[in-house]
Amino acid sequence: MTRSSDRPISFEPSTISEDHPAYATHQAAIRSVQRVIDDRAPYQNVQVASTGIGQLLRLKPLILTGAGMSTDSGIPDYRGPKGSLRHSRPMTYQEFLHDDAARHRYWARSFVGWQHMYDATPHVGHDIISRWNASGVISGVVTQNVDGLHQRSQDSIDAQLGHNTEPGRVIALHGSMDEIECLVCGVKENREAFGIRLHEANAGVADDWHITEADINPDGDARIPQRWVDEFTMVQCLNCGSDKLKPTVVYFGEVVPRQRKESISALLESSGALIVVGSSLAVMSSYRILLEADRNRKPIGVINRGPTRGEERATFRWHTGVQQALEWLDEKIS
Ligand SMILES: [Zn+2]
Repeated sequence: MTRSSDRPISFEPSTISEDHPAYATHQAAIRSVQRVIDDRAPYQNVQVASTGIGQLLRLKPLILTGAGMSTDSGIPDYRGPKGSLRHSRPMTYQEFLHDDAARHRYWARSFVGWQHMYDATPHVGHDIISRWNASGVISGVVTQNVDGLHQRSQDSIDAQLGHNTEPGRVIALHGSMDEIECLVCGVKENREAFGIRLHEANAGVADDWHITEADINPDGDARIPQRWVDEFTMVQCLNCGSDKLKPTVVYFGEVVPRQRKESISALLESSGALIVVGSSLAVMSSYRILLEADRNRKPIGVINRGPTRGEERATFRWHTGVQQALEWLDEKIS
């Protein structure tokens, strides 16, 4: 069900025209961005929900996280109460490919917003999940977040424990912001090195470009004045000179690589349950994982402040903050 009052406001107008070959895919992507989740399963007593999810943790579950996981690290979500969709929508893949002006605007915004994301650090909830992963309490973690915080947390917990969690047990469903890829020649560049090039190209111009957290999207995109967009200088691919550059992130209108989907299916297969943490599962690529768990009769638990798509299929639904729930569960099982 969609409530019109909850619809995101002031979207950037679509710049892919109706006669463009990519128009239909672009429009479908926009509909996905705009989806408002209002699934309401019957109310479940908090005690029943929390205890039940504690029991799922004994079945070696797969953990599936979303933007609600990163809000405690200072990265805003799309659809939460302060969700960034309320002021701007993310780019579609089709715009990256076909709309030079939109791509320029994206990079100007990302230039300003990325530093904020780069500065974010994992919180205690990330570390709890990483410890569960290292000790085999869970089968793995699949995240929709592109901030890399689960992997960073896993690396530091592994270092503390002198353990080596297999790389396949932390999967970034939509990729990560760590790299930039050229859409023409396919060559990749490290985001940090790319960021240095951007800073050099904009030296002296962008010194006073600072924004607040409220103006940032989960993908590092940020709302900035038009003047900054106009003054921003984009850099080119080091290999072929094209400026068609994109973070190695799966954007709206783009598909998740097949091999990654298969890895996730295999991980789910080896799991006794699925626990969704901090996600409304608004996009099909993540909602599909819940449907697959349900089809394979794996019990499902949901920990999320707001409604989650398909939560009527979950045995346990705990409407609460992510970090406090994970802390409670960690105490319960240790
Ligand atoms: Zn190139």
